[in-house]
This record gives sequence, structure tokens and C-alpha cells, in this order.
Amino acid sequence: MATIKSGSQLKKDSLRIDQLREQLNRYSYLYYVLDNPEIPDSEYDRLYRELQQLEQKYPDLVTPDSPTQRVGELPLESFTQVTHRVPMLSLDNVFSEDELEAFFKRVNDRLELDEEPDINAEPKLDGLAVSLIYEDGLFIQAATRGDGATGENVTQNVKTIHSVPLRLMGKGIPGLLEVRGEVFMPREGFNKLNKRALENGDKTFVNPRNAAAGSLRQLDPKITASRPLAFYCYSTGAVERGDLPNTQDSVLLQLQKWGLPVCPEIKLIKGIKDCISYYETIQRQRDDLPYDIDGVVYKVNKLALQNRLGFVARAPRWAIAHKFPAQEEVTYISNVDFQVGRTGAITPVARLQPVFVGGVTVSNATLHNMDEIERKDVRIGDKVFIRRAGDVIPEVVRVVPGSRKRNVKKIKLPEHCPVCGSDIERIEGEAAARCTGGLICKAQRTEAIKHFASRKAMDIDGLGDRLVEQMVESGLIETVVDLFRLKVDEIAGLERMGQKSAENLIAAIDNSRKPALAKLIYALGIREVGEATARSLASSFGNLQVIMDTDEDVLQQIQDIGPIVAKHITHFFAQAHNQQVIKQLLKEIDIQLPEVNKDKQVLSGKTFVITGTLSEMTRDEAKERLLSAGAKVSGSVSAKTDYVLAGDKAGSKLARAEKLGVEVIDEARLRELLSS
Ligand code: NAD
Repeated sequence: MATIKSGSQLKKDSLRIDQLREQLNRYSYLYYVLDNPEIPDSEYDRLYRELQQLEQKYPDLVTPDSPTQRVGELPLESFTQVTHRVPMLSLDNVFSEDELEAFFKRVNDRLELDEEPDINAEPKLDGLAVSLIYEDGLFIQAATRGDGATGENVTQNVKTIHSVPLRLMGKGIPGLLEVRGEVFMPREGFNKLNKRALENGDKTFVNPRNAAAGSLRQLDPKITASRPLAFYCYSTGAVERGDLPNTQDSVLLQLQKWGLPVCPEIKLIKGIKDCISYYETIQRQRDDLPYDIDGVVYKVNKLALQNRLGFVARAPRWAIAHKFPAQEEVTYISNVDFQVGRTGAITPVARLQPVFVGGVTVSNATLHNMDEIERKDVRIGDKVFIRRAGDVIPEVVRVVPGSRKRNVKKIKLPEHCPVCGSDIERIEGEAAARCTGGLICKAQRTEAIKHFASRKAMDIDGLGDRLVEQMVESGLIETVVDLFRLKVDEIAGLERMGQKSAENLIAAIDNSRKPALAKLIYALGIREVGEATARSLASSFGNLQVIMDTDEDVLQQIQDIGPIVAKHITHFFAQAHNQQVIKQLLKEIDIQLPEVNKDKQVLSGKTFVITGTLSEMTRDEAKERLLSAGAKVSGSVSAKTDYVLAGDKAGSKLARAEKLGVEVIDEARLRELLSS
């Protein structure tokens, strides 16, 4: 009986092994060859581990072509191919401290050392591995890893990456030096690239790794050149006619001296405890690093020890990747709700089957707006990729290709606001749909008050989102002005509030009665006026009333303010209810004006035109100084112009000023005027 049972188990496992290999091969082809993965890495890793465990159970069933024995995929035939002088391998990985301990045990058992070996710890960059060949210090060839034995010749493409030196500098460079490292796309460049693709109606990249791989593996190097790629090196391959130092950290230092970029987060440590604390430190910094990483890599530092440890089929025994929790996962959308924001923008929010991603359980994810839903063709019931990176709100990235069931439901924008019932409108050219209810909409009012009280705005300590919701819900407050009229007793009656916390809140509200002008402007919640714009407005105009009275043309002279933001500002101040709220608010608070503008505006009413190259300041700086002194700055010279500030190489504007008899001044005279 027992034999029959184990026989059938073997058959079942063997079928599963075949199935896993087939799936993994397909996913690996989509990922490495087409740069178009169909599943998140976390799912690939789960399937891969299942196969690894089954193969451990049945070592006889391991075949040389199993995904567990191979590196990457064969190179694309459209590129010429490069045979690596020394194979380019992958890395084994661990996901827990127990697994990390097992790695150290394997290393220590093999090396039989008296003490733990030094470890070079490095971030695991999420890009693609390349090999660069330098002959007598001159860059002559670059290749992708490919299947580890053969890669694609991407020499011309790599030449377009600015951080790759075309000639090494310094002394002692071996006659032939193979440098290995990662080509990656920094996040800022990735976001810009995807934004541009969206605007042009092109396909966007799923993540920076795919963008890096897709950009490097272009047949036309001009396309690669237009992509923001970067490079860090982390090891060497073949070395001839010369020597390198004998530890990983000193090799990297030497490469850096020869002009190659090395990741600044690399650190020499010892033992498992140090590894864990390095892992935790880098994990904390992860969101602030300018590039994506998916873990850290520990390498035995002494190259002699690395040689003694050697390799298994696809990875070295002397290194291990310690991976971070996945930031991308798959789950199902069970429903979609619509949330109303402070400016009335309606955001579709997907309710999800809870999923563990980026270290927390996520059950809601934003779908951004209706255009995004259409572009990604997301429907209720779909299986989707969810991404949660750091503090960013989790988002639905895309539908898992080929997973759609027949009973999925299209997502429709409601005609009326789910909170106040007002009409919802979609303005031509704007992505967001909006509730037209304005301040009659409780959701908009609530969000406006939350924003007003928030840390970067009025910074009212203890006035959290939940409390604001309760206060609006119970009718205790309607506008931000009501906050300043609250009484301890009224607040003490609210859920989860006692006398003491009510008193504390009133004290915090009182503390906020003297906001800096910039903070107040930001707190008002004018559309598209963030902290920086609020600061520019405050420093340029120096006074709330002046800002309220300024027209769009003049507003646009401030740095960062274009026609749309200028319109939002004038529209905001033109609304009767906003004027009313501000009037009441000014009775409750005492605005702190910026230092420079407490004096009277010495150039008030004067119009300036700036032309040519200035020597003491930039034109923008000159403009800011003039605006804060009350002047207007115009783009063209007319009879109404009072002064033309002319720098070096001034052209037609200077000529026109002379023709019209407008006074032309230099920077010295400007200084006199400003201090008059
Ligand atoms: P890997 O990412 O697991 O590790 C090896 C690679 O890490 C190296 O080749 C190198 O490119 C990189 N690396 C980054 N920093 C490094 C450093 N400091 N030192 C050395 N190497 C460093 O490598 P892999 O073999 O390319 O891919 C396996 C992984 O790819 C899987 O874990 C999976 O997550 C992903 N994958 C996903 C799919 C999918 O469909 N989503 C398919 C195939 C593979």
C-alpha cells in the first residue's frame, strides 16, 4: 500500500516539476528576452522555490536545462553575440534570517575558519548586469549577461551612458580588464520617461528594471541615448596583463580610482549580525535612494576565500542576495468606490482581496482617474498587479495579461457625487472628474479642513483626519474659521475625546494663530499651489491682500507659476465664499509677513523689462527682487515701461527702449533703486 502511495506521489510531483519548468521557462522568456513580464517577481520567486524544493526531494529529476540550473535566457539573435571570457552567473537569494544563517553556516563549514569572514555588503541594484571590456584602459566592448555564457553586444548603446568612462584614468590598469556591474534607470528619469510616454500615447514601462532592460537592448543606439540610464560596477571578470587587489572592497576602490562609478552605499562588515543591521539600514533608506533596489548582496570579501568556495550551477557560493519584501504582488479587485478630494476631484479606489505587499497588508489601491482605468482597461473582478513602494499610496499597475474571466464588470464613473449628490463633471483636457458641489459637499469641506490643519500647512497638533471627519459629520465645524471658535466643552463631548485632550487641542489651535504667510497660502488649499509655489507667492508679494488683488498676467511672472496655476489662484480668490472665509479668518489669526516685505514696497507701480545677460544675478533672481519690491516685470518694452534693466549682449529690447526713450539701467542702478 505504502509503495503505491509513494509511487503516485512521485508521479504527481514529477508532473508538477514539468509544469513548473514549463511555466518558469515561459515567464523567464517574457522577462529576459521580451522585457515584458507577465507576473510579478514575487510570484516567479514562489514558483522557482517550489521547483527548487521538489528538485531537492528528487535529485534524480534535476535536468541541466531546468530553470534552477540556468542563468537568464539565450541572447536575442538580432544582436551580434559575445562569448563571455568568464561566465556571468546569477546570485542565490534568501528571504529570511534563518535562510541567511544557513548561508553563513555553509560558508563557515566549507572554509573551516576560526572567525567569521569579512563581508562586503552592497545594495542589490534592480537593473541588468553588463560586462564592459577595457583594453589598455580604452572601452572597447559591452555585453549583456544573456544566458551567462553568451550575451548581446550592446557596445554602441553602453557608450551613450554618461557614467560609463570611455577611457580609464590613473596608473596600473591591466592590459585587459573586464568590469561587471548593473545598468539601471534612476527613478526620476523613469518617472519622466513614463510621463512622456503617456503624453504621446506610447506604451509605458512597468518598472525601472524593465525600462532599463528595454532601453539598453535597443537595436538603435539613438533610442538608448535618449533614455536616462546609469551604471554602477560591482565586480570584475577577465583580467590579463596586470593585477588587481585581493579583496572585493579594495577591487571596488581601485575601479573607482580608475574612474568607474561605484555605489556609495557599499560597506565592509563582519558576521551575520552586521549583515542584518546593514539590511535594515538600507531597507529604511530604500525609498530615499534615487534608484530601485530589491535587496542587499553579501560577498565574502577575500578573493582567495571566494576561490576556495567556488560555484554551484548558476551562482557563486561566496555571495548571497538578501531580498526585501516584494513591492509588487497580484490580487483581485472585488469592487470600486469613488472618493471625493479637497478640490472635488473624484478618485476611483479599488477594493482588493487583501494582499501582503511592501511589508503590509493592502486592501485598497488607487486607480487614479477614469483615463487611467481606460488606458489600463481595468475591470471589477480582474486579477491585477498591485504596487506599494514606500509611503506612496498603493496603486493598481495593470491587469495580469491573459487572466481575464468572463464575468468581469466595466467600471463606470457615477453621474452624481457619492457624498453630496451634486453633478460630476469632466472638463475637456483634464484627467480628473470633479464634484461640482463646492463647499456644499461635505467631502470637499472635510478634506479642505484636513489639509488646512496638516503638518506642512497650519500644523495643528492633534487634529487628525478622523477627528476632522467627526467634527464635520456632527456639524461642529463647517469651515476652517470654525476651528478657531471651538470651545473645550464642545470637543470634549466627541468620541474618544476627554477634557484633557480637548484642552490640548484648543491650545494647539491657539498656537497656530500666527502662521507664516507662505504656510497660510499653502493651507488655503488652492489647486496646484504646493509649498514651493506658496513660498514664491509669499516672498514675491509679501502680503495676502496683494496676492488676492493680483491679476493672472502678473502672477505668471513668478517663477513656477504658469497660466493654469495663475488661473486657479485668481479663480480661488474670486469666489465669494472663499473671500468670506478669508475675511473671517483674518479676524482669528495674525499672519507673519516675510521679513523683506515688512518695509514698504519701494518700486510699487513701476514696470520693468529685463534683457541681456546680467553679471551679479540671474534674470529670475532680478525678477524676484523686483516683484518683492512691488514692481511689475513685463516681457516686452512699450511706452508704459518705466525701466529696462539691460545686461550684456542686450538686443532688440534695448534698441526699442532707446527708440521709445525709456530709461535704461544697469545692475548698479538697480541696487540703488531697490535700496532707495
Ligand atoms: P537576480 O536578480 O536574482 O540576482 C543576480 C543579479 O543581481 C545579477 O545578475 C546582477 O544583475 C544583479 N545585481 C545587482 N546588484 C548586484 C551586486 N551588488 N552584486 C552582484 N550582482 C548584483 O538575478 P537573475 O538571475 O537575473 O533573475 C532572477 C530574478 O529575476 C528572480 O528572482 C525574479 O525575481 C526575476 N524574474 C522575474 C520574472 C517575472 O516574470 N517576473 C521572470 C524571470 C526572472
